[in-house]
Amino acid sequence: KETSTKENNVAKIKVVVRKRPLNKKELARKEEDVVTVYDNALTVHETKLKVDLTAYVEKHEFCFDAVLDEHVTNDEVYRVTVEPIIPTIFQRTKATCFAYGQTGSGKTFTMQPLPLRAAEDLVRLLHQPVYCNQRFKLWLSFFEIYGGKLFDLLSERKKLCMREDGRQQVCIVGLQEFEVSDVQIVKEFIEKGNASRSTGSTGANEESSRSHAILQLAVKKHSEVKDSRRNNDVNDYRSGKVVGKISFIDLAGSERGADTTDNDRQTRIEGAEINKSLLALKECIRALDNDQIHIPFRGSKLTEVLRDSFVGNSRTVMISCISPNAGSCEHTLNTLRYADRQV
Ligand code: ADP
Ligand code: MG
Repeated sequence: KETSTKENNVAKIKVVVRKRPLNKKELARKEEDVVTVYDNALTVHETKLKVDLTAYVEKHEFCFDAVLDEHVTNDEVYRVTVEPIIPTIFQRTKATCFAYGQTGSGKTFTMQPLPLRAAEDLVRLLHQPVYCNQRFKLWLSFFEIYGGKLFDLLSERKKLCMREDGRQQVCIVGLQEFEVSDVQIVKEFIEKGNASRSTGSTGANEESSRSHAILQLAVKKHSEVKDSRRNNDVNDYRSGKVVGKISFIDLAGSERGADTTDNDRQTRIEGAEINKSLLALKECIRALDNDQIHIPFRGSKLTEVLRDSFVGNSRTVMISCISPNAGSCEHTLNTLRYADRQV
């Protein structure tokens, strides 16, 4: 299977698995760590029962582009996943970095620091002699897909809609974008956006697990403002041409896609929507992997939003987050099979 079509020495699709450590609760329950990592492979030890109720262990082995164990820091995650892509953003690349996995497996923990590190590197590159005369600027936006609808996380959760022009460009009407010239501002936007993520009466993690959060960093090239009147026209100034961009996506909890038989109607609708988007995402990645010309992005709102990132010079990094405890074994196997594209 061809998973590393190399261009600019960066694989087109990279699949990385990250295992989190056992948490306090799991340790207190003396839960077993059933995931063993070695090099770029791992084994899951699943305890099963025979008909006579005696237990036996079934071993499942998987191999990925990289497997990161519980001792790996967020800095190292950045180095393995996003850092190699950064220079390609200036060469018209549209990149996407996903975190996939069940709720509590470490998606948000993994994704939160990445845009900050990426912005740091992008800003540094913008100031390099080759780029600094080209009127490149860095722009940030942050929105959420919840129940198939779009909300701006940096603008009081304003509801947004999508439009597509004839040149495969996706436009999210009304989405606020902010120019970011230093990293401190990026940090503030990330915190502000995360605080606006869906939080219901049932607690923050519970609700945010039903939404996809999408943070985009775009490098734009701005034309010279010749006319003094246009100087005041903020929109015109903002509409610089996108050179390249990177999207960071903290996906809904993968187990939420199974909420389609829940008693609560709203939960059922959301579960069906999540299920649809995770399936559609898998289909798009499969198509990318096979160098298919037709990418089935219309399968869901999530993949439609990412349409322009699935064509041309695209790069995709999937970070599959897994929990190590025996009690999560079934979800862990589902996540690994999804990452391995077996299902
Ligand atoms: P998710 O977003 O997938 O629901 P979180 O990122 O919120 O999961 O992680 C659940 C909990 O586990 C959080 O308290 C988080 O701080 C902790 N955690 C996750 N991954 C790690 C890790 N690699 N090292 C230490 N703690 C982690
Ligand atoms: Mg989360």
